[in-house]
Amino acid sequence: MKTESIPQINGKPVRYLRGIGPKRCDALRKFGIETLHDLFYLFPRRYEDRGQFKRIKDLRVNEFAAIKGKVITLGLRPMKRFTLFELVLEDESGSIFATWFNQPYLKKNFKVGDEVILSGKVDFYKRLQLTSPEYEILDGSSEDTTHTGRIVPIYPLTEGLAQRSLRRSMKELVDNYLTEIGEILPPAVAEKENLMPLADALKAVHFPVSLDEVARARYRLVFDEFFLLELEVLRRTKTERKKIKAHPIPVNDETIRQFKELLPFKLTNDQEKVVKESLDDLRHSYPMRRLLEGEVGSGKTVVAACLAYCVARNHLQTAFMVPTEILAEQHFLTLTKLLQKSNLRVALLTSSSIHRKEIIGRVKRGEVDIVVGTHALIQEDVSFRNLGFVIIDEQHKFGVRQRTLLLNHDTKPHLLVMSATPIPRTLGLTLYGDLEISVIRELPKGRGSIRTFWITRAKEKEVLRYIHDRVSEGEQAYIIFPIIDETEKMDLQAATTEYEKLRTGLFKGIPMGLIHGRLEKTARDKVMEQFQSGEIKVIVATSVIEVGIDNPRSSFMIIEHADRFGLSQLHQMRGRIGRGGQDAQCFLFGDPTTEEGKKRLRVLTKSNDGFKIAEEDLRLRGPGDFLGTRQSGVPFFRIADLIEDAPILARARRAADDILEADPHLRREENSKLIEAAKRYVTLLD
Ligand code: ADP
Ligand code: MG
Repeated sequence: MKTESIPQINGKPVRYLRGIGPKRCDALRKFGIETLHDLFYLFPRRYEDRGQFKRIKDLRVNEFAAIKGKVITLGLRPMKRFTLFELVLEDESGSIFATWFNQPYLKKNFKVGDEVILSGKVDFYKRLQLTSPEYEILDGSSEDTTHTGRIVPIYPLTEGLAQRSLRRSMKELVDNYLTEIGEILPPAVAEKENLMPLADALKAVHFPVSLDEVARARYRLVFDEFFLLELEVLRRTKTERKKIKAHPIPVNDETIRQFKELLPFKLTNDQEKVVKESLDDLRHSYPMRRLLEGEVGSGKTVVAACLAYCVARNHLQTAFMVPTEILAEQHFLTLTKLLQKSNLRVALLTSSSIHRKEIIGRVKRGEVDIVVGTHALIQEDVSFRNLGFVIIDEQHKFGVRQRTLLLNHDTKPHLLVMSATPIPRTLGLTLYGDLEISVIRELPKGRGSIRTFWITRAKEKEVLRYIHDRVSEGEQAYIIFPIIDETEKMDLQAATTEYEKLRTGLFKGIPMGLIHGRLEKTARDKVMEQFQSGEIKVIVATSVIEVGIDNPRSSFMIIEHADRFGLSQLHQMRGRIGRGGQDAQCFLFGDPTTEEGKKRLRVLTKSNDGFKIAEEDLRLRGPGDFLGTRQSGVPFFRIADLIEDAPILARARRAADDILEADPHLRREENSKLIEAAKRYVTLLD
């Protein structure tokens, strides 16, 4: 590694700056800032234009304004519970009060006669006044214009950091250390993308001369962030992956034809497309890494089965890993049925499998072609004779670590991960940047429409009665309770109580069943069977059904406390109704208190497009919450916004791709700083 590729400034700790002592160092560390270089990347969260001074006479209530004038009087005013510091500022047009709460020490900063700039919001409290404005006392020195009289950066703060002192440190940083910032991008990229030089951009983002300049600076910095991230993920996909060995799996048309003969239906165009994309990957002697996105019921499992079939025809084994036992059993049954006319051997392996030992033995001896299972598949005592292909369903339920465990073999298996949560493309490109992405958008024909309604408390009874009537006529319904975590007793209790209440009250006489993740398997199977056969009309379930039951005759769903689920999760759950081609209705019960909560439920009543919903969810909740806490690998951006900046991401990715095409190992002089820079800028958790 060349040492000159690391700018000197990188090693200098923030305490090099005047005014940054141990306390501020600690506060900055909370933002992950240790060095001067890090500090350059602590970006303002917004700006205030304090460049134009208003005449005091022209101030209007609620507006934001900067004024310049002389202090004509000042003093402390003790109130019952706090102390006010007040001063009166006068310009040639008039005068105005400014007040600060509980900051009596401010008094010694000002004298009558000082020339001062104040900026802040104009309030009305018996009279117009500025409440806790930012201030700058002009003494003719050059520091005057740091805090006011310009476009001023407003930084994010934590305890121990005050806006003014942080801004002063930033000014010192920019004034003294900017020259140590080296360019990191190859000149050709900067030129082609018409980017501001890095040092200029860092100056402008902190102390801009115009908002226009901020926009250009920001563009450059967002580009950097995306570019380096994409460079890293593309390097992993393109360059690194090709070094890994996998069994090539050549597949001819005849094999595909044989598989299709097993199907009672024709593959949709999207299914065909994904099969083809995957087979193109499987031919290679380096592993496929593919993400398949498609809504519940879009036919992903069939695609997976097709690929597993082809793999088996090449005498290699497939491991099909799913997050829950219910799902494992279901997939096992589906595959067994589908493949019964072939001679492939399918097995089920979960931690509660009775024949666990025996199955493990068969897998080891290569007597099983496809083994479906839960985490049990990655226990230490499980080994494969010749694992060629790994399928992971509901991939977001697994951590990245678990994903890699199955891949921990000398010759790596090919990998297909499947997700029913549509991931907005921008997030997909970053989070799963090391995966190729396939999407099924088209649902198999003959699906009914689902209409969704948001029901507030006052109307709940009415809806329950309506469902009661329809169910009495023979229809079937789900009532879903949120249980975010199966260990949460309270939630489970709520579901149980409500079940009893309905069973003995409003729904008296209607056959009902209760199902949740803690129910024993035999009891659960019984309820499911009865629901499937129509014996049970209404099933009260915790969110286990998100990935569980598939009953084509259910037309109604109530989701209680809908505001406690994620949008994508709600969308996924309602995909369980109307699967027999009939029209269906979903009722979201919930009284969210926040505007955002209301907005989220409204989105669902308006759209049935999983991708649109996911995007909205991401917009409303941000990437961390969107993906849930279980997900590692969420990229962290200092300045980029995954939604607003999507077009920049596309450009940055293309630029990164071009560079790797020409110089896969980044060995050229002009690219020499990139690996180092990516390490420093990119926070990709493994
Ligand atoms: P997913 O795994 O995406 O949730 P599945 O593969 O389980 O979807 O398919 C959902 C249902 O649709 C299954 O009953 C399956 O048999 C059926 N199905 C899948 N593909 C087709 C198709 N091309 N035409 C008709 N039905 C299909
Ligand atoms: Mg599925």
